[in-house]
Amino acid sequence: MSLESPSADLLARVRFVLVEPSHPGNIGGVARAMKTMGLSRLALVKPEVFPSAEATARASGADDVLYHAALFADLPAAVADCVLTVGTSARRRTLEWPELSPREAAAVLLEAAARGPVAVAFGRESSGLTNAEMERCQHLLRIPANPEYSSLNLAAAAQVVAYELRVAAMAGGSPGGLPRRVPDGLPGGLQGGLHAGPPRGPEAAPPATAAEMDGLLAHMEETARAIGFLDPAAPRYLMRRLWRLFQRARLDRTEVNILRGFLKAVLLAARRGEGE
Ligand code: SAH
Repeated sequence: MSLESPSADLLARVRFVLVEPSHPGNIGGVARAMKTMGLSRLALVKPEVFPSAEATARASGADDVLYHAALFADLPAAVADCVLTVGTSARRRTLEWPELSPREAAAVLLEAAARGPVAVAFGRESSGLTNAEMERCQHLLRIPANPEYSSLNLAAAAQVVAYELRVAAMAGGSPGGLPRRVPDGLPGGLQGGLHAGPPRGPEAAPPATAAEMDGLLAHMEETARAIGFLDPAAPRYLMRRLWRLFQRARLDRTEVNILRGFLKAVLLAARRGEGE
């Protein structure tokens, strides 16, 4: 049985990214968890062993998901074309990342999937996702588990998320399935990051992808250096703040192009000034 479109189309746009999984059995387990819920896009970042007979055995009939899995060198490469990335973690992080329950995250992911590919990133069995990887994510998904023993097996965590995505898709995806309340613990300034902000009409440009945001940030850094604005003692601080600011603004492609045009002019003026 399959879901009738467009819900099935939305699920087809959701990618599960496993960052450096060390146990091939878990990769197979995730493939199975995905296929049972109608998901098919699996991306692997530097798996320790892949392909492997153990992964295929654990996939148990979902080996087509394994067969089509895409391999990447790092998380940014795996989500380059995505308009939204949700990171998963058993641990509470700082308030920097708006935390969503699996149900809330499913609604947010499907809403964004209507506008482009989206990703859910899962961490290493031993140590989860690094802070640098979490910074590539707009939201943090935490499965509310036993506080004394909150770390699920990787494939079990993937199953929970996949199930909520399916339930949300069956309920009609976006926008009816959106969470009504702002999730707890969202810092005031980040509340708009979910789905607030001025409404975007049908004529709105497509949302910026992760790769386009990377391009903007690199351009910003180059310009900040050229005009002596970047503090050489703490260059990453400014860039991290700007990254968060731009994420919150949910820039579309046209806005990225406007900002990059502006930066180009600033760089040009700075270089002309140097020549004088
Ligand atoms: N020791 C690691 C746990 C890794 S479990 C840590 O402290 O982070 C492997 C992966 O499964 C995690 O990176 C996450 O992607 C997922 N996971 C496990 N438990 C989870 C939970 N309660 N909520 C969300 N994701 C979870």
